Amino acid sequence: MPQVVLKLSASTLDKMKNHYQSQLKNPPQNALFAAKTSSCTITAYRSGKVLFQGKSPESESEQWGKPDVGSLKSKSSSKQPHAFHPPESLFTSSHIGSDEAGTGDYFGPITVAAAYVTKEQAHTLKAIGVKDSKHLNDRQIKELAKSIVELKIPYSLLRLPNKKYNQWQRKGWSQGKMKTILHHQALEKLLEKISPIKPEGILVDQFSQPEVYKKHLRSEKLQLQSNVYFMTKAESYSIAVAAGSIIARSAFVKAMDQLEMDTGLSIPKGASAKVDEAAAQVIKYYGEDKLDEIAKVHFANTQKAKKL
Ligand code: MN
Repeated sequence: MPQVVLKLSASTLDKMKNHYQSQLKNPPQNALFAAKTSSCTITAYRSGKVLFQGKSPESESEQWGKPDVGSLKSKSSSKQPHAFHPPESLFTSSHIGSDEAGTGDYFGPITVAAAYVTKEQAHTLKAIGVKDSKHLNDRQIKELAKSIVELKIPYSLLRLPNKKYNQWQRKGWSQGKMKTILHHQALEKLLEKISPIKPEGILVDQFSQPEVYKKHLRSEKLQLQSNVYFMTKAESYSIAVAAGSIIARSAFVKAMDQLEMDTGLSIPKGASAKVDEAAAQVIKYYGEDKLDEIAKVHFANTQKAKKL
């Protein structure tokens, strides 16, 4: 369904609520209000984001404002605004960011890292080239991770060994649940490390809807820390998330180097046909059981490798 997202001021939201008074309906969880006209559903959130959905949402939204360039891209439902979207001010404050690596790779661990970056340190990190790790090669990532450590940026890093991953997977945990628990633990550790300092906020690079994240925490009797925000592509907005993503990625890359050393085989990243071949080699030289120690065995690559 076509949709338009606008970012509006609190006073405009008030005006809107009055305007749609007779068409208000029960708002979804975390929404400020929702209304339904004959052609459009309107949902307003506390962050100021307003979602217009319908056949031609522009005809309804244009009376309130123009979408900004960023929101034009947000078509998928996973990018719908939610109550945990960070305020713009968070990005320039002293805050924690967390991100993970290795989730889409057949071989190697999942790594999650959280970093606490003060306002002052943010400039230094930008100056040395800390940015979205997706735009950096492995060598740059390792060098930047080293610099981040040398600058004494407080961080916490967790590695989920494949054996544990496969155990969790077999007892029915989704990757989303694993990531949730790892991010939560990384944040707990870091908060403890920097105590009594409290960050102005915590930003998690979003991998699921916040409500799903909270559901996973509840299932393990854990509770969301205070001032936690979620957004997709957070590493492009927050230097703390970018630092976390570099630390996590660097740990993943090093774990992959180690795997090549240990097996004497070429171990590719990702989950492509090249990976199937590498897995077949592992089976040939070390037996199928070895995969349980070094790969995410429920990926389709395992079955494909066995056929090779
Ligand atoms: Mn991420």
